[in-house]
Amino acid sequence: MKPEKWAGILLKETSVKYYREKQLAETDSGTGKKHCLKDKPISRPTSIIIAETEMPTELFLQKTVMFILQRTITEVLKSSKLQIKIMNSVNEILRFKIVLIYLLFIYVLSSCSEKKEGVINDEEAITILVQPFKDINSGDVAKVAKEIRKFYPKVKILEPVDLPTKSYYKPRNRYRADSIISFLSKNTRKSFVTIGLTTKDISATKGNIKDFGIMGLGFRPGTSCVASSFRLDKKKSNEQLFKVAIHELGHTQGLKHCPEKKCFMRSAEGKNPTDEETDFCENVSKF
Ligand SMILES: [Zn+2]
Ligand SMILES: [Zn+2]
Repeated sequence: MKPEKWAGILLKETSVKYYREKQLAETDSGTGKKHCLKDKPISRPTSIIIAETEMPTELFLQKTVMFILQRTITEVLKSSKLQIKIMNSVNEILRFKIVLIYLLFIYVLSSCSEKKEGVINDEEAITILVQPFKDINSGDVAKVAKEIRKFYPKVKILEPVDLPTKSYYKPRNRYRADSIISFLSKNTRKSFVTIGLTTKDISATKGNIKDFGIMGLGFRPGTSCVASSFRLDKKKSNEQLFKVAIHELGHTQGLKHCPEKKCFMRSAEGKNPTDEETDFCENVSKF
């Protein structure tokens, strides 16, 4: 048996048995009769107990003192009214503990379910600033903002401003999207993301194509992005513009393109696939 294993049972079993047998043998040799020693006290000199163990003396002494203390306290409590008072206090403490644990459980449960539903904690959530340019109808802007709010709880619509003149690309009568983004970023503070909305055609350099017409642009990650309704189906432009906006906002938050057809993060690849997009797919967090 390992020395540590002695600790728990030594005094209760091994030593008691040893000394009972020893005492019994001594009694027997004296009288020749067997005695019941059940109720007789057993004397156990500490020095002998120590000699019987494989434990280091210091550790064993500690254990012995603890054991004797525990036994003494239990005996005192048993015969005292103090026990009732202490037990009542213990019960009250336990009850208090149970209430605390219950409250903690409720708190953990509520915070878990919040995360599961994808609702961002209000303090952590970024604020989306919707920056309409003067060409776009305020009603259309409100509809897009309402949809964005379903994914980002804090959305604020800013007063319309002119498209920056230096973003204008005269050869194609378009506005350069990267230039619009840098214009918007200048006024975007930490914990905010600005999305510019316009009806004008916007463009960016794509591979070898110097000026490629696009629906929207957002850097990954980024503080600003832009969406244009110019290339969208005029009958569904609000719904489609929201899908472009939520895609570009996704890029600003670090999301990459997704191969899933129904996903908002699907790459447009020069077309307009927004009608097929219905939501962020479950892969989004992995990208
Ligand atoms: Zn994209
Ligand atoms: Zn996806």
